[in-house]
Amino acid sequence: MVTNQQSRKRGLDPSYPRLLGDRLCLDFANTIEGPRSARPEDFLLDYADLPRWGHHAGVLSEAAATQLLQSAEASPKAAGAAFRRGLALRSVITRVFHAIATGATPRPPDLVLLQSEYRNAMRHAQLLQSADQYRWDWPDEETALERPLWPIARSAIDVLTQDNLARVKECPGADDCGWLFYDTSKNGSRRWCSMEGCGSRLKMRRQYARKKGAAVQ
Ligand SMILES: [Zn+2]
Repeated sequence: MVTNQQSRKRGLDPSYPRLLGDRLCLDFANTIEGPRSARPEDFLLDYADLPRWGHHAGVLSEAAATQLLQSAEASPKAAGAAFRRGLALRSVITRVFHAIATGATPRPPDLVLLQSEYRNAMRHAQLLQSADQYRWDWPDEETALERPLWPIARSAIDVLTQDNLARVKECPGADDCGWLFYDTSKNGSRRWCSMEGCGSRLKMRRQYARKKGAAVQ
C-alpha cells in the first residue's frame, strides 16, 4: 500500500521534516535539513520540539506530549538541560551513522555516550503487553523531561546491534542533502532519501544539463 507507506513517512505534524530515515534514530538526526550544506536548517529550536517531534514520529501520544510540555513550562531550567541533552544525542547519532554510512569507524567516545544514553533509557523501560507478545516501552504517564529521548537512544543501539550496517546510507542529493536513512529496499539499491525529492531533483538536473549540452552543439 503505497499510500499508507507515504503517509507514515510524512509523520503527524507537517511543520517537521518527513520521516524518510526508516529508523527512528536516523529520522531524529534528519531534524536538520541540509546538515552538511552552507545553510543547514534546524527544526529543533527549544525543548518543546522534543515532545512535539516525538509525537510527529509516533513514539509519544498526544496526551503524553502535552503533559511533557506542561512539565517543561513548570521547570524551564530542567527543560533546558533536557533539550541540550537531546541535541547532544542528535549530534552523536549523526556522527556515528555518518561514519558508518561513509565507511569510517565511529569514534569510541561517541559509542560510549550512546551506550550510556541507552542504559539510562532502558532503566526506565517497562515490559508491557501487546496483542500477542510483550515489548519494552515507556508508559504514557511517565513525565520525566527526558522521556522523548529514550526511544531514540534505544533505536540507535537497535540499529547498531540488529541491523545490517551496510544498509545505513547518506543521501548524496543535490544541495548537500546529507540525510541518513536505512535502506529497506529488496536489493539494497536505494540511493536517495526520497525518490520524488533528491532522486528527481538529480534527474531534472541531468535532463537540464543534457538539453543545455544539446543546445550548445
Ligand atoms: Zn536527500
